[in-house]
Amino acid sequence: MDWRDQVRKVVPYVPGEQPQGTGFIKLNTNENPYPPSPAVEKALAAVDADRFRLYPDPEAGVLIGALSERFGLPKDRFFVGAGSDDVLGMAFLTFFNGSLPVLFPDVTYSFYDVWADLFRIPYEQVPLDEHYEIQAAGYDRPCGGIVIANPNAPTGLAKSLSFIREMVENHPDVVVIVDEAYVDFGGESAVGLIETYDNLLVVQTFSKSRAMAGMRIGYAIGNPELIAAMQAVKYSYNSYTMNLPAQIAGAASLKDEAYFKEQVDRVVATRERAKAALAELGFQVLDSKTNFLFCTHPEVDAETIFAALRTKKIIVRHFSGERVKAFLRISIGTDEQMDTLFAALKEIIGDGR
Ligand SMILES: *Cc1c(COP(=O)(O)O)cnc(C)c1O
Repeated sequence: MDWRDQVRKVVPYVPGEQPQGTGFIKLNTNENPYPPSPAVEKALAAVDADRFRLYPDPEAGVLIGALSERFGLPKDRFFVGAGSDDVLGMAFLTFFNGSLPVLFPDVTYSFYDVWADLFRIPYEQVPLDEHYEIQAAGYDRPCGGIVIANPNAPTGLAKSLSFIREMVENHPDVVVIVDEAYVDFGGESAVGLIETYDNLLVVQTFSKSRAMAGMRIGYAIGNPELIAAMQAVKYSYNSYTMNLPAQIAGAASLKDEAYFKEQVDRVVATRERAKAALAELGFQVLDSKTNFLFCTHPEVDAETIFAALRTKKIIVRHFSGERVKAFLRISIGTDEQMDTLFAALKEIIGDGR
C-alpha cells in the first residue's frame, strides 16, 4: 500500500494565461475590456470591514433579491455561487448520478469533461457537424443528462430557442443544463422556459457581460425543486461560497441596467467591426453571438500566429484539440486594442504567406 494509490487522479482544466507583467493586450479569456458599473465601485467603497468578522449570509439574500427583481421571477428560482464554474460543478454533482452517459458537444467548454471525470459521471461527447454547429440528431437517445453552452464556446455559434425547447422536451426524464455565459452578447435566453419545463436549468455569469470575472459570481435559474436539490448538495459541501463583497457588488451591478446595456452594445459593435477586419486579412470567422471570435486562416497556421502575437505582447487563445487546433479564439477588447491586434496580424500574415 502506498498513499499515492489513493490519490484521486484528475486531469485539471487549464485556464487561459493571466500574465503578471504590464503592457499586455489580453484577448484570451473573454473578460470584458470595460469596467463594471460605477455603482459597483460605490457599493464596495461603502462596505464596512467590521462586517468581515461575521460569516456572510449563506443564502446570499441581497444578491438573490436583486436577481429576482431583474428577471421578474420568485427568489426560489435562483441558486448562486462563486462564478458559474462553481454553479455548474454543483449542478453536475447534483443532477448527474445515473448510469447512462451525460451528453455534451465534442467542441465546447472544456470544463464539462473535467467535472464529469472528477465526479465519475459517465459521459459522451457528441460531434458538432462540419459547420461546427450542435446537431440535434446526436442527442436523440437515452442519456443521463445534457449540457449545452448556448452560445457555444469556443465556436461562438448560437442555437435558437426552439432548438433548446426541443432538446428539453425530448428528454423530460433528465436535467438539461444550458450554460448561457455569453447570452447577453446576442443569444436567445432559455430563462423564459423554466416555468414550463421542470428539467431545465439555465446557468449565467457576471464574468463576461457584467465585467466582474474577478468577483466570482454565477447563478442558476430553474424551478424550485431543481434549486432545492442544488442547495442540499451545496450545504453538504460548503455553505459560504459567496463572500460579502461579492454579494453586495453583484446586487449593485444588477441595479444599473442602463450602463450594462450600453457597455454590452459597445462590445457587440466592436465585435462586428473586428469580424470584418479579420475577414479582410483572409481569416474565416465563425458567426459569433459572444464577446469573442473563433477564426482560422487558410494560409498561416494558428499556432504560428498565436506565438507571433505573444512576442508582441498580445495574448489570444489557441486550443490543441484536433478539431480546433487550426483556430484562434480572440476576445473582443476595446477598439484601440483591436486596432493594435489588426496591425500586428497584418505584419504576421504578410510575413507568413
Ligand atoms: C467563462 C465561462 C464560464 C465560467 O465563468 P465563471 O467565471 O466561472 O462564471 C462557464 N461557461 C462558459 C462556456 C464560459 O465561457
